[in-house]
Amino acid sequence: MSPPSDPVTQARQAVGSTRESRARWLLKFSRLNFQNLGPDQVAQWQVGVAVFLGLDLRLQTQNGGFAPQQLPTTTEVRQWQKDLKQRLDSLAQGQVWSNVSAQLRFALRLSGGRLVVQGTITPLHQADRFMVKAVETLANVRDRVRQCAREDCKQAFVGNMRQTYCTATCRGTVNTRRYRQQSHP
Ligand SMILES: [Zn+2]
Repeated sequence: MSPPSDPVTQARQAVGSTRESRARWLLKFSRLNFQNLGPDQVAQWQVGVAVFLGLDLRLQTQNGGFAPQQLPTTTEVRQWQKDLKQRLDSLAQGQVWSNVSAQLRFALRLSGGRLVVQGTITPLHQADRFMVKAVETLANVRDRVRQCAREDCKQAFVGNMRQTYCTATCRGTVNTRRYRQQSHP
């Protein structure tokens, strides 16, 4: 039996190394409900955020573990998740996501089901590092970001050209509704 992989390895696998995988990880993070997570799961997402931010956890390795003081705090992680969710929710509602701080000049919006990026992202103020990374990550895959076609979902997702719904659940909901409408006009 091989031992379970350590949190850093697991987090690296979760975040992945491609632009798409990073964007998918970010959107998954934005949809978390921390109230449903146990302490171990919260800790795993904490390491995930550190990996996402590109903190070099290898340098902090001590005796097979890593120095916890180098990780973002759970308070920071929760706050970032909450802020990100708010931003993405308002994006889904057609609002523009622009300048999170004076250091940044950019605007993101969803238009015609696509992600439109204007301006340049010029980091960096340390306090904004998570949001800067989040914006960069989404802007990097702008051609792959779609907006779910289900009216009461509308959330952004990373998909291919033909994909119109974020998940099989959304597709299923719409198909079921159509079927019901056709069967019982
Ligand atoms: Zn959806």
